[in-house]
Order: sequence, then structure tokens, then C-alpha cells
Amino acid sequence: MSYLMNTYARLPVSFVRGEGVWLIDDAGNRYLDALAGVAVNGLGHGHPALVKAVSEQAQQMIHCSNIYEVQRQEQLAARLCELSGMDKAFFCNSGCEANEAAIKLARLYGHGKGIANPTIIVMEKSFHGRTMATLTATGNRKVQAGFEPLLSGFVRVPYNDVEAVRQVALHNDDVVAVLVEPIEGEGGVAIPDANYLAQLREICDAHGWLLMLDEVQTGVGRTGTWFAFQHADILPDVMSLAKGLGSGVPIGACVARGAAAEVFKPGNHGSTFGGNPLACAAGLATLQTIADEQVLANVQHVGALIVAGLTRELAGVAGVKSVRGLGMMIGVSLDRPCGELVKLALAQHLLINVTADSVVRLVPPLVMSADEAAQLVAKLSTLIREFLE
Ligand SMILES: *Cc1c(COP(=O)(O)O)cnc(C)c1O
Repeated sequence: MSYLMNTYARLPVSFVRGEGVWLIDDAGNRYLDALAGVAVNGLGHGHPALVKAVSEQAQQMIHCSNIYEVQRQEQLAARLCELSGMDKAFFCNSGCEANEAAIKLARLYGHGKGIANPTIIVMEKSFHGRTMATLTATGNRKVQAGFEPLLSGFVRVPYNDVEAVRQVALHNDDVVAVLVEPIEGEGGVAIPDANYLAQLREICDAHGWLLMLDEVQTGVGRTGTWFAFQHADILPDVMSLAKGLGSGVPIGACVARGAAAEVFKPGNHGSTFGGNPLACAAGLATLQTIADEQVLANVQHVGALIVAGLTRELAGVAGVKSVRGLGMMIGVSLDRPCGELVKLALAQHLLINVTADSVVRLVPPLVMSADEAAQLVAKLSTLIREFLE
């Protein structure tokens, strides 16, 4: 009997401590963590720089209302803008809230242009969160079912299909923005064509639409660059961040550029906790540590080792459709549902995740070493081979 609402089918293991890429359960067993709290613990567990920054900030001041100037928040906004080429940030506490801010921003932007029913183009198989606006934007019926009525103001097109976006432009004058993940994470680690974002950028420019990238999962180093859009050599108008930004301390951000950065005025949007000093200290320490320890280079190098290792070990195995990844956002696509693999891996003290029914998803700590990656490849490839036999 649990007093928790039944929102998760929880696995029967309880972790009490973490060290780097390892999690330790209440019986003292060590598990290799290739999930990192779903792309959250980028610095791994118990990173000394993060622990120090959070402890020191907790001693100074944990919370301070946004009706005052908050120095840590100013500093984190400046750093995010410096790293991304964007202009301004709004802080919140989670990914769905970051997207919620983006959606409100786009609607306000549309009304400013005299569009009474501003509409946002969203993608099939996308995931943007579980608030009413973000689950409406999400392209997964399982996330929406039972929560109707959904919001109006969204049109959906297939992912990685610029022609479909162009078609919408031909007959819909209400469009104000495109909201899209640079890589669809929950949708199965779907990596679009290399020129997808650049083409979306062109279409948005041609029509005065905002290009809004949901980088909640892909951002903060996950794909080997600070932000995934940096692989495409473009800038978005709006970017949402969360998961890895605070290395486990809850924080989200809606980061905007140009006209989009000036849309909100006092009273339009807010958050009690958003951008509090504790969360921002975690964000600053995360960004600083990624820079100091050359974590982006590690993500590129070790991420490629994992993809190459799994490709090698699973070559010719019937049932393996593809191994794909960018940096440390990696998917192994099988020809059948494989949720069972999560439990089989757990029994082998390996933490992975399955998404879109048949895709093993690896989003390990960004600090994973080559040696730890080799252990991951060996364990996981054996498990997948046995599972498919
Ligand atoms: C996880 C995720 C979200 C939702 O973030 P929460 O913090 O759970 O609200 C939104 N978008 C993407 C791409 C995500 O991966």
C-alpha cells in the first residue's frame, strides 16, 4: 500500500545514493546508470562542483521572490544567452512550463500582429509535456486520452517533413509559430535530416513565424554541442530548456531572441519558484562544469564510442533495425515491443529506458568515461541479443 497517486508503474528498486555514473540501492548494489534520471543528471551523481555550488547557495539564500532582482538569475540568463546566441531568458521549473511559456509567447506575438486565433504547427510523435497546453501540443494519443477537451490553436504535421509545413502555410493564415524537437526523444530518438531545421528556419522567416525549438531533452550538451540547433548552424526564435540544465535541481527556461524576446511584459507571465537562487546556482555550476571539464568533447567522443560499439556488437542480429544517436542521445530500434528489456537490464544492474514501445533509449550522464561506456555496450548488447533470440 502506497500513499502515492498511481501515476507511475514503478520498478521494485530504491536508490539511496549516487557516484558518477553509478546508482546504489538500499541493499548496497551498484547500477550503471545509462538513463541519468531521463537526461537530467548530466554531471552524473554527486559531482563535487555541483554539490559545492548548491550547498553554498543554500547557506546564502534558497528562495527570493521575482518581485526583487535576483542576481543568480541574471547571471544564468546572461550565460545561457552567451552560449546560445539568444537574447533573453524566462525561468521556470520544468520542461512543460518552459514550453507553456513558449506557447503563451507565440500566442501573444500573434495577437500583436492582429491574428485573433494564433495557431502553432506541431509534429507527430512529439512530446512537450503534460500540462493541458503541452499535452495538446504533444503528438501522442496516450498522453492526451481522457483529458479532452484539448486546446484549440494547434495543427499537426509529420516530423521531418518540410513539405507538410509548406502546405499548411498555403491555406492557413493563423499560423504564428512552429514548435519542434531537434531530435524527438520520447518519440523514439528520431533524428531528422541534417537540413531539416535549416529548412524550417527558412519557412518561418518567409512567413514571419517563430521557430520554437523544444530543447528540453537535447539541450545543455546532450548531443555534443551546447544546444542541438548548433549542429544546424541556425538560430531559433525561442528555445525551451529544462532536464539537464540544473543537473537534477528543478529548473526550466524559455530563451528567446529578437522580437520574441520582447513579447512578454510585466503581468503576462510569471512563476513563484522560477529562477530561484538555488536552482540558478545549480544551472550556473552545470554550465561552468561542462565548460571546465570539456564535457562537450567527452559527449562527442564517448557517445560515438557507444554508437560504434553497439553497431558492432549488434551487427547482423535479426530484430535490430538500427542503432542511431547524436552525442549521448542514443536509440536502438528493434522490430518488436521491448519494454521487458528495462526489467531484464535492471536485473543485470543496468539502468536503461524504452520509448516508443520498441526503442531502447540511452541518455547517460554526459561525464561517462570510455571505460564505463564499454561496460554499457557489453552489457546491453548481450541483453538485446538474448532478448531477441
Ligand atoms: C521531458 C520533456 C518535456 C517535459 O519536461 P517536464 O520537466 O517533465 O515537464 C518536454 N519536452 C521534451 C522534449 C522532453 O523530453
